[in-house]
Amino acid sequence: MGHVPRTQVSSNPIIAFFQYVWSSLITAAKGLRVTGYNAWLRERVTVAYPKQELDLSLRTRAKHRVLVDDTGDPICIACGQCQRICPDHCILVTRKKVTVTTPEGEEKQVNRPDEFVIDLARCMYCNLCAEVCPVDCLHLTRDFKYSSGDVHTMRIELEGLLRPEPLSEYEANQTDGADDEGGEE
Ligand code: SF4
Ligand code: SF4
Repeated sequence: MGHVPRTQVSSNPIIAFFQYVWSSLITAAKGLRVTGYNAWLRERVTVAYPKQELDLSLRTRAKHRVLVDDTGDPICIACGQCQRICPDHCILVTRKKVTVTTPEGEEKQVNRPDEFVIDLARCMYCNLCAEVCPVDCLHLTRDFKYSSGDVHTMRIELEGLLRPEPLSEYEANQTDGADDEGGEE
């Protein structure tokens, strides 16, 4: 019921009833006026995600990717520098030796990741891991659509980080330190 000052309420119960009904209608109309102003007249600052999306900033950093070679194997040499520099301790890299054939036909042993896990739930997307990588195989992408209600699913194994396509312009700039804001890649 809307508010009617006690001194203005009629002593007649029927009149008092209509006073309260009228007051309620006035209150509802005031509320709808505020709602209508915000819904149709006020400048919108949000979009109906996921139907609509805003352009991402060039500084956007999200899920990591690990580059692969022509055979689909990760270029990572399991040096562990990304793990050591990570301020959030969210990278785990273990090493194994694998035998590869060089373009000259020689066989040689190289280091490759045995286990490579990034816990995206702990990551603060500082990009240090990508900057320190000596073979430039680790990059942060603009793929931000991996939210989950289960924090354990945010631990991404190597298979979930491998991406065969070459670096996008955005990813290349991210390594060099993009300064511009706004726009798409
Ligand atoms: S972006 Fe920063 S916090 Fe995230 S994994 Fe890399 S070094 Fe760690
Ligand atoms: S710094 Fe690069 S090469 Fe070294 S373990 Fe990390 S991703 Fe692999």
